[in-house]
Amino acid sequence: QVKHNGKNNFLKFEPHMVNFQQNKRKMEKILREALVNEQFVLLYQPQVYAGTKRFYGVEVLLRLRTESGVMLTPDKFIPVAESVGLIVPIGAWVIRAACEQGMEWIRRGYDPIKISINISGLQLKSIQFLSSVKNILEETGMNPANLTFEITESTIIDQSYTVLHVIEEIRKLGISVAIDDFGISYSSLSVLKNFPIEILKIDKSFVREMVTDEKGYKIVNAIINIAKSLDLRIVAEGVEDSTQLELLDELGCQFIQGYYISKPINEHEVSKFLPHRVALNHSHYIDSIQEK
Ligand code: C2E
Ligand code: MG
Ligand code: MG
Ligand code: MG
Repeated sequence: QVKHNGKNNFLKFEPHMVNFQQNKRKMEKILREALVNEQFVLLYQPQVYAGTKRFYGVEVLLRLRTESGVMLTPDKFIPVAESVGLIVPIGAWVIRAACEQGMEWIRRGYDPIKISINISGLQLKSIQFLSSVKNILEETGMNPANLTFEITESTIIDQSYTVLHVIEEIRKLGISVAIDDFGISYSSLSVLKNFPIEILKIDKSFVREMVTDEKGYKIVNAIINIAKSLDLRIVAEGVEDSTQLELLDELGCQFIQGYYISKPINEHEVSKFLPHRVALNHSHYIDSIQEK
């Protein structure tokens, strides 16, 4: 954010930098208050099987409700949260809240669903990450087999040794690891080679271009073939119309997510999507609730 002046190497401060610093400080304050006042909100975007459109799970997407009631999207606050170290407590809050909600759906009699959570690279590098995940699993009772952590390519390139270790430990806990926004960074293929991931999420920019552009189509085809040959599950994000869905299904993409199926929605709206409510008299979940 600080620019070097080419000629004499003096740092040249410009008005927009002052604004950036001020805005950053303002946002940091908003984030600290939001943690205390429970202003973070989770939305959920359904993921479905490409072929049958049967419900598969949800991706958890974070929002911040400001005091004036506006819902901020992550692009407005995650970068600041990362740069001031608040992403660690915020990220832990997200994991806990998502697990609690997952258990709440089960208590209400729905079958367990897959829950996918975005994790910042800075969380992976924080010392307390693994122990905090273990605590959350224990305290909420969430089954790790129903959890996926989505990690973007760009965050795992640097400090790859530490990150590799943490990813291996996540896998040992029984949580799946997905590579998010696949294809947009320069090291996509080495990430596939070097990290034990199970799910590949095709970035929405490729999905958008595959219909309009012959090359775009071929690239998606190639990505899907790589994923298949490595036995990875494939999720396409940003699917907005039936043409995209049909092409992806034809090419062998298993799961899709996007406005065509649903925008990110709140926990009550998710209930309408949830698969077969468990029959009351067969449900061990209901039994366990009644014992309490
Ligand atoms: P992402 O993980 O790649 O999530 C997909 C983004 O695409 C979401 O934006 C979603 O609302 C949007 N999207 C879904 N379907 C469509 C579609 O059909 N068309 C278009 N144009 N967009 C679609 P959102 O919710 O604003 O999140 C943006 C990014 O913020 C996420 O990208 C993720 O990287 C990050 N993020 C979200 N929640 C969290 C979180 O809890 N922790 C961290 N560290 N990052 C998060
Ligand atoms: Mg994601
Ligand atoms: Mg993504
Ligand atoms: Mg993305």
